[in-house]
Amino acid sequence: MSIFSKIIAGEIPSYKIAEDENFYSFLDINPLAKGHTLVVPKKEVDYIFDLDDDTLSKMMLFSKKVAKAIEKVVDCKRIGITVIGLEVPHAHIHLIPITSESDMSFKNTRKQFSSQEFEEIASKIREAFE
Ligand code: 5GP
Repeated sequence: MSIFSKIIAGEIPSYKIAEDENFYSFLDINPLAKGHTLVVPKKEVDYIFDLDDDTLSKMMLFSKKVAKAIEKVVDCKRIGITVIGLEVPHAHIHLIPITSESDMSFKNTRKQFSSQEFEEIASKIREAFE
């Protein structure tokens, strides 16, 4: 079971953003920016391009809804989207609030927030999620 499956199952806590029957979304614990969010399929597949077409298409549409919610809450120019997947072998999309190209670099120092700050941003994004 991947660490993300454990999060989805509620065995490991997360700052949840949104969920439907196929996907779970939560704040990245080592964020590049305030509001850095992950979208994960409940189906445990390692490589995103091994997902079936239907799940992959729906994952993009779910990510769009999450991105629109983040945009409403976080001061940024837009939401950057990327897939890396070298650390956790369970497909996931990164949604990152950005104002410049360099904000997308995974070489950047990760931001640190208290659990109260994480919860505050998560609840605002949750409220903005339609
Ligand atoms: P990647 O697999 O795309 O290279 O990186 C995995 C991402 O998942 C990283 O940005 C990392 O901070 C995040 N991550 C890893 N473990 C956890 C976890 O237990 N909880 C949360 N919320 N994020 C995690």
